Amino acid sequence: MPDRFVIQLHDATALHYDFRLEVEGVLRSWAVPKGPSTDPAQKRLAVEVGDHALDYADFEGVHHGGRGSGAVIVWDAGSYRSLAPERPFAQALAAGHASFWLDGEKLRGGWTLQRTSGGAKPQWLLIKRRDETADAGRDPERDEPRSVKSGRTLEQVAREEG
Ligand code: MN
Repeated sequence: MPDRFVIQLHDATALHYDFRLEVEGVLRSWAVPKGPSTDPAQKRLAVEVGDHALDYADFEGVHHGGRGSGAVIVWDAGSYRSLAPERPFAQALAAGHASFWLDGEKLRGGWTLQRTSGGAKPQWLLIKRRDETADAGRDPERDEPRSVKSGRTLEQVAREEG
């Protein structure tokens, strides 16, 4: 089984995209306020947050109470593979630089996560690599807002399940 990735759009206190990669049995997670960009010149802030269990990758619905309350949709999903397979991916993340190939429904191609600061909530940049899948003219957050799981928008999920 290839390792999974998922991006969940989450309407919490501030709208953000939760970018998650399956690494050694858990979902390593980053909150990306603007979402990933397919333009290599648009480096997107990605704040590392706590791991989630693998089965959370399929979650779509509404959380109630607490800091993460609000609707969630599965904005993109698929598999990924490391672009440096000679080294364990967890080791690359520990070193603060990991490159990988996404095979999702919306996002494809090479991407890099680069850590820029440490601390309790390390900050990273999520950057599209320059390859044939890069596209400065695309804006998937604006043009492809629906769930890849259900076809629903965040607003529909909030209304139907809130
Ligand atoms: Mn979140």
